[in-house]
Amino acid sequence: MKKFFRFLGLALLVLIAIVLIKTFSLGSRQVPAGSIESVSVSDDVFQNLADAVTYKTISFSEDTPPDSTAFFGFHRFLERTFPRIHNQLELEKINDYSLLYTWQGSDSSLKPMILMSHMDVVPVDEPTLSDWEAGPFEGAITQTDIIGRGTMDDKGTLMAVMEAIEKMLEENFSPKRTIYLAFGHDEEVGGPRGAKQIAARLKSKGVQAAITIDEGGFLAEGLVPGIDRPVAMINLSEKGFASFRLIVETNGGHSSAPPEENTIGILAQAIVDLEDNQRPYKLVNPVDYQLEYMGPELPFMQRVAFANPWLFKKPILKALNSHTTTAPTIIEGGVKNNVIPTVAEATINFRILPGETIESVKEHIIATVSDKVRVESVGFLTNPSPVSSVESENFKILEQTIRDIYPNSIVVPGLVGGGTDARYFYDISDDVYRFYPIRLDPTSLTRFHGIDEKISKENYLEIVTFSYHMIKRFNQ
Ligand SMILES: [Zn+2]
Repeated sequence: MKKFFRFLGLALLVLIAIVLIKTFSLGSRQVPAGSIESVSVSDDVFQNLADAVTYKTISFSEDTPPDSTAFFGFHRFLERTFPRIHNQLELEKINDYSLLYTWQGSDSSLKPMILMSHMDVVPVDEPTLSDWEAGPFEGAITQTDIIGRGTMDDKGTLMAVMEAIEKMLEENFSPKRTIYLAFGHDEEVGGPRGAKQIAARLKSKGVQAAITIDEGGFLAEGLVPGIDRPVAMINLSEKGFASFRLIVETNGGHSSAPPEENTIGILAQAIVDLEDNQRPYKLVNPVDYQLEYMGPELPFMQRVAFANPWLFKKPILKALNSHTTTAPTIIEGGVKNNVIPTVAEATINFRILPGETIESVKEHIIATVSDKVRVESVGFLTNPSPVSSVESENFKILEQTIRDIYPNSIVVPGLVGGGTDARYFYDISDDVYRFYPIRLDPTSLTRFHGIDEKISKENYLEIVTFSYHMIKRFNQ
């Protein structure tokens, strides 16, 4: 017995030693910050963004056609506001509403660069209108902020990129590589007619870009427990998206003589079965990068966990939501309180982790629910995107630019749970990154697609400045 305890004690010591060695060998991945020249930007940019907000370029649903007055009005507004761009860049309209600008580079041996954003916005919930500081489409400017739908998502980025380029043209800058500006008009409904067609158009021209930059990464503040500094999330990949309808059909009947298995009961059981049998948490690429980059910056106890995912995998992966999520979103069935329905249906939405597919999720559902339930895919579906590199020259330039402009920040590559238009560009671009320096904190996070969407003047200038430097750095 004594021997056994001695062995146990020794094993524990070895374990602690391994855990500590792993922790201390987890060195910071942050590149040293260099310097960068400051950019002077005119105060007109605030009014320009406020004006952009007044065009109600709303995406209501996949089947609702765009409001042509709003979109064409917005196009004309861009022409008026950015005369140099419209003089010197080539502009193609894709499917009438989406815009593709080409800024010809001087060195045709260099692969192009694609800068993306989208001009459509989500609708505003009517009952919440009174909770806004100013009308969502009014274009109000306060001492500190520009208020309105689209300021964060995604007209803020679109306008900032345009401001940066207009300024560069004014300074007679000409890029070495060709730069495409790809502005979709239906991102909020999956981008099938906008970004997807822009990517197809570029592909038909034989374009293979070096790098694509889109929305979907942020300067996160106070969102990572244990890190006080802004975290610059460069998202390398996005989860897939799929919804499945569970359909139960029976003979129904009178509620006074219910059958042993009721339509609604079978459906309810299927939902419970899916919730009880969630897809497993997995340490996949690029979540492993997230651990590597974030881990060293954490306080000691958290660092121990991040340095030893082999031992503390579950809680970390849970915190990072690193699995295919299961969310019942719609349920329907029944018409009268004394009638057992013949049909009951539920829709379950899944956000698919890289490594899994729409097909594997469907197989999981069929294997989990009773065979009395029919399973059909519904609506927009997309597999997880590929994962872009953190080793490439492209990533290094982007990373260095961010560190130089925000020396206090920590760059962390990762995976975004929501969807972006960027998913269509992997086919025509070596690397696809999601990052613009929109500052997100626990308060502003809720404004995204929500009430009182706004951006601070200071932050907006940061996005203009970032776009300016990023374009320069990729064209030196
Ligand atoms: Zn967006």
